[in-house]
Amino acid sequence: MLTGKTAIVTGGSRGIGRAIACKFASMGASLAILYAGNEEAAREVTDLCRQNYGTEARAYRCDVSDFEAVKETVEQIKTDFRTVHILVNNAGITRDGLVLRMKEEDFDRVLDTNLKGAFHLIRHCAGLFLRNREGCIINIASVTGLMGNAGQCNYAASKAGLIGLTKSVARELAPRGIRCNAIAPGFIATDMTGDQKENPLLGQIPLGKMGSPEDVAHAAAYLATAKYVTGDVIRVDGGIAM
Ligand code: NAP
Repeated sequence: MLTGKTAIVTGGSRGIGRAIACKFASMGASLAILYAGNEEAAREVTDLCRQNYGTEARAYRCDVSDFEAVKETVEQIKTDFRTVHILVNNAGITRDGLVLRMKEEDFDRVLDTNLKGAFHLIRHCAGLFLRNREGCIINIASVTGLMGNAGQCNYAASKAGLIGLTKSVARELAPRGIRCNAIAPGFIATDMTGDQKENPLLGQIPLGKMGSPEDVAHAAAYLATAKYVTGDVIRVDGGIAM
């Protein structure tokens, strides 16, 4: 259970982040969810957490790629919740294209959101974790960061970078009781993946179907409570990257 714990979930308004927020709320955690612009979806998630599980839940509009905005938001969360115990770096985007034609701005935008965004949150939450002598960081990577994927050099680089970030932060903060792990999902049915019925890669999934956001949330719940696990990367991918 996560009773008495406060969790930040970036990108908690939709898809995988929404499922993780609801799962943590069902385990008794208070929730601070960050979103980019979809206020209605964010409010729906905080209402769900409060009404279904009776937990405290607030939404904060914050672009994770903005170092100062993240700093201010974490300060506000500290004022509202007193402290933070769990951080889930889930916010992510794609801007797919072949490397030959990829625009610099598309490469930068994906790296700034998916990789630097996680660094910003870790950087501004680490002080709270150190003071508490405990902390749990979960970074949502991707099997693309392990295997690569044609047409996604920016996204794959961001997710491979996130795995390196995870292992380095795990080593650095383990002596202070702070754990850092990653989840590498495969094909999960969300707005990001859209309609995949025609995607030939689906036929390569040993378990024969896409995963659900709840499948990823299940792994996040495990990592949030697995006190002797750090620096790990858990695949939730139906076996595609084995
Ligand atoms: P999604 O449905 O597109 O949702 C993305 C979430 O991220 C939304 O809550 C969005 O907020 C938020 N977001 C986007 N840019 C942001 C920014 N700059 N600052 C703050 N929040 C931002 O995506 P998803 O499929 O759930 O993916 C979640 C994570 O899992 C991503 O990191 C993705 O790379 C990873 N992943 C997904 C899959 C998959 O198959 N779906 C597979 C592997 C890894 P708004 O609602 O306000 O727009």
